[in-house]
Amino acid sequence: MPTTLYIDGQWTSAQAGGTREIRCPADGELVAVVDEATEADTVAAIEAARRAFDAGVWSSVPAAQRGDLLLAVARRLRERKEEFAKAETADTGKRIDESRTDMDDIANCFDYFGKIADSHSGRVVDPGDPAVRSRIDYEPVGVCALIAPWNYPLLQAAWKIAPALAAGNTFVLKPSELSPHTAILIMSVLDELGLPAGVGNLVLGAGATAGGPLSTHPDVDLVSFTGGLQTGRLLMANAAATVKKVALELGGKNPNVVFADADFDAALDNALNAAFVHSGQVCSAGARLLVEESIAERFVDELVRRAEKIRVGGPYDERAQTGPLISAAHRDKVTAYVQAGIDEGARLRCGGTWGTGELEKGFYYMPTVLDQVERGMSVVRDEAFGPVVTVETFAGEDEAVETANDTIYGLAGAVWTQDAGKGQRVARRLRHGTIWINDFHPYLPQAEWGGFKQSGFGRELGPTGLGEYLEAKHIYQNTEPAVTGWFAED
Ligand code: NAD
Repeated sequence: MPTTLYIDGQWTSAQAGGTREIRCPADGELVAVVDEATEADTVAAIEAARRAFDAGVWSSVPAAQRGDLLLAVARRLRERKEEFAKAETADTGKRIDESRTDMDDIANCFDYFGKIADSHSGRVVDPGDPAVRSRIDYEPVGVCALIAPWNYPLLQAAWKIAPALAAGNTFVLKPSELSPHTAILIMSVLDELGLPAGVGNLVLGAGATAGGPLSTHPDVDLVSFTGGLQTGRLLMANAAATVKKVALELGGKNPNVVFADADFDAALDNALNAAFVHSGQVCSAGARLLVEESIAERFVDELVRRAEKIRVGGPYDERAQTGPLISAAHRDKVTAYVQAGIDEGARLRCGGTWGTGELEKGFYYMPTVLDQVERGMSVVRDEAFGPVVTVETFAGEDEAVETANDTIYGLAGAVWTQDAGKGQRVARRLRHGTIWINDFHPYLPQAEWGGFKQSGFGRELGPTGLGEYLEAKHIYQNTEPAVTGWFAED
């Protein structure tokens, strides 16, 4: 596997010779040493993408053919699924089964955008004048900066790469510095499949340096970012100077609302999934559990009992149900977050400790439940991005909705009830981009994904996910040009 940048169709070493060690968070083992870009490398990648875009090498390829390339990517991914899944697991420490599932989802995403690549082929407008021809053309936006996080490294990148290519753009991809490998692999697939030089470029390295020019360079037309709120705010401010298009997929503090009439066992099981899958390092994690008062005590007691039994372990430990956090620094953040909650008066019901014994080799944090929390507390307001769930109670629909909407975020939420009408009513009133009724976590490539409020703006997936990478151009033709007389001489 290459370990360098990929710029203008070539695997290219970082100009300043910098490198970075990638270590598996599950055991600290060295995965690889990869090149570390500086600003100069990223500028070179942006310039290559600009040249390729301006030469029209990709936008002039018929949309259906661009779609064919994406379908071929999906096939290669399925053929090489195990290799990709192992690479994802090595960088993130996530269970190998989860990485395999991610690879299936990623192939489905490429399939979806491959199939709809030619769906924005333009629209005829009726101008109300027989002498006029009017139509809307959809054109690619240009050079796209695609910036991805470490929690679902290739999945989040695929949600950007597939529509960007389908629409005829060129791009510079920057994965998280912690999880570069599947980005390298996908670029090698695009290279093998004959993507023209300069259309897809890859830079590796830290956000502020390798990533810096992506939001400031005048040749970038669009920044699509998935990551944390603070970084999103910075990128949006940077992009304002050259009025780039910006799409932000940021964090969440996602309410999981359980009514007393819910299917108890299903709601309980899914409350565990919502909070603890991938050790809570999921933007849509159900980290804020809201339970109706009349069942709260029994529900929370059971939740704690089950959370204590979750088997935490390495990615190839067949008994393990969830894995490590991404880094020592991130585990320190989660530790401080839980401590702040306790200091503010939350009750620690389970967890709140690091993994012990064999787990000391990695960055493990035990599944944690905090109850007796109040809305003003930092643990209720802020994203943990770790295996931590807070529990609040409510009485009735209005209080459930009001509590669930009392957050600056608005990414996702769930409602559990056996009353179909109530489920629909509450779903309509929740100000979040995805609402599950009697489920948690599933998403579909054909359904839009994205946030309300400070969870961001713009949508990934679905037809809107392709539309983000297109500009509408109105072409108006007068077939019978005539003097208007507006400025007629006297
Ligand atoms: P992060 O903001 O630290 O980093 C995300 C990416 O941005 C990384 O590639 C990083 O190197 C890069 N970056 C940082 N500073 C930059 C800069 N100045 N210029 C350009 N790039 C820069 O986030 P993270 O810790 O990698 O990911 C976790 C966050 O991502 C969580 O808040 C999570 O909720 C969010 N997330 C959101 C979604 C969603 O769909 N809304 C999905 C996954 C993750």
